[in-house]
Parts: sequence; C-alpha cells; structure tokens
Amino acid sequence: MKLAARAGRITPSPTLAMAATAKAMAARGIDVADFSSGEPDFDTPEPVKAAAEAAIRAGFTKYTPSSGIDELRQAIIDKLHAEQGLRYEKSQVLVSCGAKHSLYNLAEALLEAGDELIIPVPYWVSYADQTLLNDATPIFLPTREENGYAIDSHELERLITPRTKAIILNSPCNPTGATYDRTTLERLAELALRRDLLLISDEIYEKVLYDGARHTSIASLGPEVAARTVVINGVSKAYAMTGWRIGYAAGPKDLLIAMANIQSQSTSNPCSISQKAAVVALRDGDAFTKTMVAEFDRRRRVIVERLNAMPGVRCRMPSGAFYAFPNVSGLLGRQSSSGTIATPTDLATYLLQGFQVAVVPGEPFGSTQHIRLSYATSMETIVRGMDRLDAAFKQLT
Ligand SMILES: *Cc1c(COP(=O)(O)O)cnc(C)c1O
Repeated sequence: MKLAARAGRITPSPTLAMAATAKAMAARGIDVADFSSGEPDFDTPEPVKAAAEAAIRAGFTKYTPSSGIDELRQAIIDKLHAEQGLRYEKSQVLVSCGAKHSLYNLAEALLEAGDELIIPVPYWVSYADQTLLNDATPIFLPTREENGYAIDSHELERLITPRTKAIILNSPCNPTGATYDRTTLERLAELALRRDLLLISDEIYEKVLYDGARHTSIASLGPEVAARTVVINGVSKAYAMTGWRIGYAAGPKDLLIAMANIQSQSTSNPCSISQKAAVVALRDGDAFTKTMVAEFDRRRRVIVERLNAMPGVRCRMPSGAFYAFPNVSGLLGRQSSSGTIATPTDLATYLLQGFQVAVVPGEPFGSTQHIRLSYATSMETIVRGMDRLDAAFKQLT
C-alpha cells in the first residue's frame, strides 16, 4: 500500500512513547522512577467528577453542537473576560478534544504547502509535527538558555519571509518552564501588527505559575492584537483533567469558523460528559489549582536544587509549568559501561536501562543539551529518582 507522503513526515509523540515505556516497565513489576509524564499526578477535583456523573445520570450522553455546548463556550468567554479583559462572541470560541486538537484544527485551517510557521526552540513536540502534517514548513527560532529562553524580536524578524503565516508562543513553556515578560510580549505584538503575522498563544500552563506571578495573554495587549491572536487553552493541566480531552481556541471569527467546520467534518463534538465537567472546572476549579501549584512549587525547589548539586548538570529554576529542563552537556562525551554517552537520548536510555529512571531526552524538543524531568510526581519519587541520578552520573567516566 502506498501511504500519503504526510504520514511519513512525522513520528509518534516521543514524550508519549517514553511515558508508555516507563508505564510498561512498572506494570512488569519494575520499580521505575518516572519523570516522563506530561500530566498532573493529582486526581480530578471531586465537584468536576460529580458534574460528569450527573451528566451521565441525566442522559446527557448524545451528540452536542459540534463546536461545544453553549454553557461551556459561555464559561470560556466569561473566563477570558474576567481574567484577561478579552471579549469574544460565541462564534469566536471552539471547544475541541484537548488543546492538541485545537492546535490541529488551527493548523488545518491555516496552513498549506509553502507556508512557514515560526517556532521558538525549545518547543513542545507537536507544533513541528502538526505543521509538517499540513504540508507547511516549521521555521525554528533559536533562543538562549542564559537569557531565560527569551525571544529576541530582531532575530525573529530576520526569519520572516513573505511565506510566514504565524508564530507560536507557549508561555509558560513546555519543556523549559520559561515565561515571557510583558516587554517581550509587547515587542512581539508590535512585530505581528507591522509584519501581518498571526500569533498563536498556547496558554495551557497559564495557571501553573510560581512566585506570585500572574499570566498575561498577549491577546490582552489591545483589540488590534487580539484580532490577530488565537488563544489556545484547555482544562488538562490546570484541573488535572488530561484524560477528559477538553481544550479550546478563541480568536478571529473567520479563522475560528473555518476551524469549527473542519471539526464538524472530522471529530464532531468533544465528549458531552467531559464538556459538562469542564464547565464546573472553569467556574469553580481555581482553589484546587492553587493547592496543586503550591505542591508543585515545593517539588520544584527540591528537584532543581538536587539537579544543580550534580557535577556536569545545571538547571534553571522554572517560573511556570511542571518541568525541570537541566542542561546535561557537561555529561555528554563521557563513558558508561555500555559505551559513550554522546547525546541526551543516549543519556535517557542509560538512565532507563541501568537505573530505572525515566526522563525525556531533549532532541524532540529541539535541544541536544538537555533532558526534561516532570515533577508532577510524588516527592518520594523525586527523592528516590534524584538519588539514582546521582549514582548514575557518578558512574560515568
Ligand atoms: C499538554 C500540552 C498541550 C495539550 O493538552 P491537551 O491535553 O491536548 O489539552 C498543549 N500544549 C502544551 C505545551 C502542552 O504541554
């Protein structure tokens, strides 16, 4: 069978693959210290579960409007207005089967052969693959760890061509944990207006912020900026609801209607029961998020301190999300009993096979110097895992 060329352009999500390997090892009874997972280890809040149960009992188990139920779209509109001062009509809001699906609908509606999408590096793996799946070209914008992975708007401008459609922003960022400050956002907004670019703002970690920081959506910088921004968000990370598959997009009407049409011909509505649950999460979930983030903060400090105490490793303190992204370039080139550790992937393999520690190597995020460790796991796992990492790194010669 001859498959479509696009199917050959992408690989399965490497983060999901690493998490699956770690889970399979654990299922065989192996004691894995798993830092690969990209989801909160907290349980979904009780009131959210109760809303889902009530939806099932009430028979709310049929197709809904393809773009999502009015109640949920209104909850999203209210949230964006209350928190960011943004104003959207219903037709500008689309509920999808997770933020990943929102981004996919967007890529399908926006991109075609020859188009370019600018992606700051390091980046969340799916941005590049979704671009390739839609026949367009990802253009990578390098950033520097020393500068907190800030985007330099001059460097960005040099990458813009007549084929550039959009730039994707992810603050707080998976995998780096970095956030963009207001000045950076203002420069990017100015550039987008001047060079006629769409801004795609993936804000899925907006509530997972530390040290009292508050999230600013780039769309909130003014109506003319909002008019060329698509805000992407969802309930997965903030309310520990990854399995429920509810994400959303809000943005310019033409684009959102095109995305809604694509969804109506591909998946139809997101799960009816999950939509009812998401309404409760958005309306009443913030106390839960605060408790969860306070615990992430405790773990963040421990994991970063432990990593920085290991020779050959340096780790920035993340300001958001729940990932440590240590630079391990000081370990590359060293020898293990099974050969040279030349790359982050070699290091991740060495750690998993020799020490039962699961981490995600940097390469799929666009880095040849880092590994990613999720601290959305118990403090006990963190302490046990850091002890193993210590031992593993000491055995390298
Ligand atoms: C987890 C994640 C998403 C997607 O989450 P969904 O579960 O599909 O809503 C999108 N962007 C980033 C950066 C993520 O880490």
